[in-house]
Amino acid sequence: MNRVKQKPFTEVIESETQPDYEVGMKSWENHLKRNQSIIVDLLHGQFKSKITCPTCSRISITFDPFNSVTLPIPAKKEKEIDFFFLHANHREKPTKLSIKFPIKSHTVAQLREETAKLMKKDPKLFYFFFSTQHSREVVKDEEHTSTNTLRKKKKIKPLFACEITEEELNANPETYVKVDYQTTKKVLNYFGRPSRRKFTFFRSVCLNKNLNAQEVYMKIFEQYRILWDEAISDEQKEEWNKLSNEEAFHKIWDNSDNKPFQIYLVTNARVFHECFFCGEKRCENCELKYDSSIKVSDLLEKIKDPEFELEFEVFFTGSGEGLDLDSLNSYTDLKKPSMNETEEAKEAKEKDIDIYQCFRQFEEPETLGEENAWYCSKCKEHKRATKKMEIFKAPPIMMVHLKRFKSEGASILSKSKISAKVDFPLENLDISEFVAHPEFPMDYPVDRITPGFKQEQTNEQALNVETNQTPNGENGIEQDNNNGYVQLEEETKMEEEVTNNGMNIEEEKNQEQLNGANGNPNPLLYDLFAVVNHYGNLGFGHYTAYAKNHLTNKWYCFDDSSVMEESEENVCSSASYVLFYKRKNWNFDF
Ligand SMILES: [Zn+2]
Ligand SMILES: [Zn+2]
Repeated sequence: MNRVKQKPFTEVIESETQPDYEVGMKSWENHLKRNQSIIVDLLHGQFKSKITCPTCSRISITFDPFNSVTLPIPAKKEKEIDFFFLHANHREKPTKLSIKFPIKSHTVAQLREETAKLMKKDPKLFYFFFSTQHSREVVKDEEHTSTNTLRKKKKIKPLFACEITEEELNANPETYVKVDYQTTKKVLNYFGRPSRRKFTFFRSVCLNKNLNAQEVYMKIFEQYRILWDEAISDEQKEEWNKLSNEEAFHKIWDNSDNKPFQIYLVTNARVFHECFFCGEKRCENCELKYDSSIKVSDLLEKIKDPEFELEFEVFFTGSGEGLDLDSLNSYTDLKKPSMNETEEAKEAKEKDIDIYQCFRQFEEPETLGEENAWYCSKCKEHKRATKKMEIFKAPPIMMVHLKRFKSEGASILSKSKISAKVDFPLENLDISEFVAHPEFPMDYPVDRITPGFKQEQTNEQALNVETNQTPNGENGIEQDNNNGYVQLEEETKMEEEVTNNGMNIEEEKNQEQLNGANGNPNPLLYDLFAVVNHYGNLGFGHYTAYAKNHLTNKWYCFDDSSVMEESEENVCSSASYVLFYKRKNWNFDF
């Protein structure tokens, strides 16, 4: 395909003080000495890359040809995590917190600091835990656990920060024991028989081993006192609020035959194991009697398995009048699946990235890595220089490659795919802002041995015509038959008259649109005509393509041996991998 059969040696041209255009042209001339083909004419553009030495500040500018533009996909930089902060004073309602964090490099240790600041609490006096109705898991190794890991896990298990008292923090394991407990309530089962059903999150209580069972009941009451606080009538409220937890407990407990809750000891019993506490194999948790002669230490002594931990079930019997048990559930997001859905949807939406963001990221200066350090001719050694890339000249047909595969390490196995959807326009991609020079590389006034290409001079009038083509593509066919330009010009004049008469407001709107995102009167516009899609991952991938028939203006999907018409809305998807754009109103003359 290359018409140059004997390639001469060319040297890389580095710019120092000469104008960009001249150096760009010389570099292009060099490129043409070795490469001349239809590919070069249609698909090759020119980058300007500027490298700065970090030590001596020497600058090197080169102009390099490209056949596609590889755009990085910027990661969503910030995420949000929300959770409930449970106060050590259980009469205070849990506080919902929502904290934004940079997705990379944010640890739970930092989350702890920020939580402490927001809540005005001592950062030592709380811990994070995940909880469902069935289990509880304290977050450990906060220095090495990323907040983003927590955020992901939180989708399945609610997350809490639990405040503890100074006493609990310093509790000596010789004299204290931490007991986790689940909460159940009475429900009627399928057969109309009462049974106990778990609800709300797993809690825990720190108990002195010397406490007796009555005192344990009081401790648990303390943690649920908020239920009574809310149920109490207005007349009694003032008096009730004056009562200490102990007084309040006795007021409730001593005056009723049916206690509002019972504590059960979670059993170890299974087919071959007898319950540590009652000796039965078929124990379904045994009741802790409200009895001052039973001590916590007695219970601990009965446990014969060092792996087994004392755990309670707090069962609300239904006798507590007016208690709104469901309010305990409101602190777990899992109770409200609808809320989770909207959160998901919000997140999915956030993931959409705009192709212009990718172009911007492409232009961001990067510091070269150790492995591709740059040799500075002044310092006489390799340097991790700063490199800034820019599109100097864009070709008539521009291939845009979305960098979906990024290697996090040296090995292929550590490559991961970014499956975020990148939004790109099917028409009027405006890259004016990202291209230094609007003309094509083929327009450089340099000797070339490949005539026969012609470019429509960009003007607004011609742009108008393009948008007014009938959707059935009649115009397109005619243009092909009688060689384009003359007809385009004629139609343009017609359209212009209409506009000038003020008859066609739509027309003016179109014109505004065509002025590009930045109101640039001569924007560099491109229209999409094909997309390569990639499905799957690095190991198991499948490619398909979408392409637009320029005669019918219809999109088709090419999938192995099948070709089917495709709806326009589907062309931009999270599978889009390589995009083929053609400069608007540029026509290729065969
Ligand atoms: Zn240097
Ligand atoms: Zn038992």
